[in-house]
Amino acid sequence: MVRADQLKAIETAKEPWDIVIIGGGASGLGAALDGASRGHKTLLLEKSDFAQGTSSKSTKLIHGGVRYLKQGSIRLVFQALKERGFLLKNPPHLVHKMSFIIPVYSWWRLLFYGVGLILYDLLAGKKRIESTIFLSRKKTQTLLPNLKDNRLVGGIAYWDAQFNDTRLAISLARSAVAYGATVINYCSVMSIVKEEGRICGVLGKDNINGKEYKIDAKVVLNATGVFSNHIRKMDQPDIKSNIVPSQGTHIVLDRKFLLGNHAILIPKTSDGRVLFSIPWHNKLLVGTTDYLVDSIDNNPTPFSEEIDYILKIIGEYLKEQPTRNDILSVFSGLRPLVARKNDKTKDISRNHSMVVSQSGLISLTGGKWTTYRKMAEDAIDVVQSVGGIENHRCKTAEIKFDGFDSSITNENPLHMYGCFSKDILTIDSSTGNSSLGKNFYLTPNQILWGIREEMAIRLEDILARRSRCLFLDAKETIEIAPRVTKIMVDELGHDQRWIDKELRDFKRAAEKYIMN
Ligand SMILES: Cc1cc2nc3c(=O)[nH]c(=O)nc-3n(C[C@H](O)[C@H](O)[C@H](O)COP(=O)(O)OP(=O)(O)OC[C@H]3O[C@@H](n4cnc5c(N)ncnc54)[C@H](O)[C@@H]3O)c2cc1C
Repeated sequence: MVRADQLKAIETAKEPWDIVIIGGGASGLGAALDGASRGHKTLLLEKSDFAQGTSSKSTKLIHGGVRYLKQGSIRLVFQALKERGFLLKNPPHLVHKMSFIIPVYSWWRLLFYGVGLILYDLLAGKKRIESTIFLSRKKTQTLLPNLKDNRLVGGIAYWDAQFNDTRLAISLARSAVAYGATVINYCSVMSIVKEEGRICGVLGKDNINGKEYKIDAKVVLNATGVFSNHIRKMDQPDIKSNIVPSQGTHIVLDRKFLLGNHAILIPKTSDGRVLFSIPWHNKLLVGTTDYLVDSIDNNPTPFSEEIDYILKIIGEYLKEQPTRNDILSVFSGLRPLVARKNDKTKDISRNHSMVVSQSGLISLTGGKWTTYRKMAEDAIDVVQSVGGIENHRCKTAEIKFDGFDSSITNENPLHMYGCFSKDILTIDSSTGNSSLGKNFYLTPNQILWGIREEMAIRLEDILARRSRCLFLDAKETIEIAPRVTKIMVDELGHDQRWIDKELRDFKRAAEKYIMN
């Protein structure tokens, strides 16, 4: 997956593309793999880096969504559990099972949550990971040694799955390219081109060199998440907004706050939400919040109240109460929720929505990472009928992802590369495999692999999405940034101006991840 080759494909295209997808997050990348694997000539344009927006800021769960059961969204949970099964099977190096424990403080609640989780298992059917079990007070204390245990009655353990969101995005992009798709990061759609009232293409701009391209397309699919209305307005300027952007924030803490291999689900916080505390890359990921916001940004700033809220709730459950000084990284993302009037954000459905405009623009919005495959399948079904392109059956439930490796385990620090982990080790076997960081794992060989094979263009691509350093320890990531830049420059041959700009831009972006 080399960017210059991908760009050449748009420069030399003689025929219109069957499908042009705008947006390289979960939805767009999923649609690119679906479209290309059905044999359609597919192009995806992403204005920044793949998964730079919401798709890198998730709780990293592949789950049915226990809490949606309470809202009565049985169909959504059923669908998501089915998708969880495909995700555990097709990219096994990126998705693994994880046990969650709900600590319970009254017998009535134990019964209530127990019944709910047994229903959850039943909905999963054959795709159930393991059965829910009731835990005694003593067993709960053993499995969660850092849990405050006064008034504890017992616990309930159930199973879901955890994944690495940006690595799944890169694997999807590479899988799509392997099926013949063209995917380009740092290429914005500036406007939509119409002929006799029908959409027939887009105007794209390469954000690296400023070059513009008129791109002909049979169908255009808008998969821009919270930016969806921007694209819809290019088509119909007077359109009403249907997106309610809701901000969710996570904090990352040292693992010492919760030892053991189990995540905690706090089933009811003061505002009626749930809160997760999850082991992640040898750290602890805690979140999330639900805040309505007005402005839209791929990298939103966490609010002080969100941090206070997370620290307060988790502090009520842990023996050692974390403070702001303990936060290693903090990050926020925007949910592209599709609203009905008067909905509270936590009640807005996580179902996806699809709208086809009069001129043929298809907008796919909402949903979850977990259901991206089904969303893509539905979208490409509609694309085929709207665009009058050949009808082919969806194959993605059976497609093994790029890097597929079912034997690699999480103990291998390169497990997220699957079968390519061996190739990475041999790029430079003398010094290329020593980690540049103490608090996370990032080697020179990973940086070179990111540049050569995964279209990493900018410093932040390496530090936030090809690796997860920025999400794991923001301060240390800023410290190693000059060394990473040097490796990038030796590979890419950039000048001092590039170095200065990258370091400046990265520092500005990274400061949002640091707790002041
Ligand atoms: C806090 C939080 C926690 C979550 N946790 C989970 C979870 O644990 N499990 C789960 O299943 N789901 C989770 N989700 C939901 C999931 O992350 C989202 O549903 C999903 O990532 C949305 O992907 P998307 O592709 O629709 O949007 P995005 O990821 O936002 O992608 C849209 C892309 O479009 C690009 N774009 C915009 N305008 C243009 C343009 N003009 N030209 C080209 N490109 C453009 C943007 O740069 C962006 O990259 C969570 C969401 C949030 C916010």
